[in-house]
Amino acid sequence: MKHARTTVTGLAAVALLGAVAAYSAFPDGPGGPADGIPAGGSVALDADVPAVRGLDPDLLAALRTAAADARQQGIELRVTSGRRSPAEQQRLLDAAVTRYGSLDLARRYVNTPEKSTHVSGRAADIGPTDADDWLNRHGARYGLCQVYANEMWHFELLTAPGGTCPPQLPDAAG
Ligand SMILES: [Zn+2]
Repeated sequence: MKHARTTVTGLAAVALLGAVAAYSAFPDGPGGPADGIPAGGSVALDADVPAVRGLDPDLLAALRTAAADARQQGIELRVTSGRRSPAEQQRLLDAAVTRYGSLDLARRYVNTPEKSTHVSGRAADIGPTDADDWLNRHGARYGLCQVYANEMWHFELLTAPGGTCPPQLPDAAG
């Protein structure tokens, strides 16, 4: 290694260990480096990260148009989760099984990689709460619909702009 002989100062070593620890906590799952969204955080709809880049172009265009209108009213639409790899989706499902105690219960909140519209790039989770509220009221103008009654943040392109959203499903297991 080029820097093998370089003396590492104590301070640099501590900083390096800290960075490794932070990275290890979120190896590459949703909210981690793989999708480009900070853990527990969000990114703007023009962020150049896999979670946004991987969204269906029509969905992304609708979200961006909605975001521009929402901004006029002081509401910022941000992406908390977008396109996910199958591995990321499986990790979410596994975590939900651990949390809720069974696959049946977990499936109310997290889909399988095969069924998830996040994996196919046709779904985006939007935040914060005031943005969800705005999009729930105005989303149909852009074709954007809340899909599941128990997920006010999850939106898909399910109608034509100005159309009517289909009835919500109770949850992702429906
Ligand atoms: Zn979602």
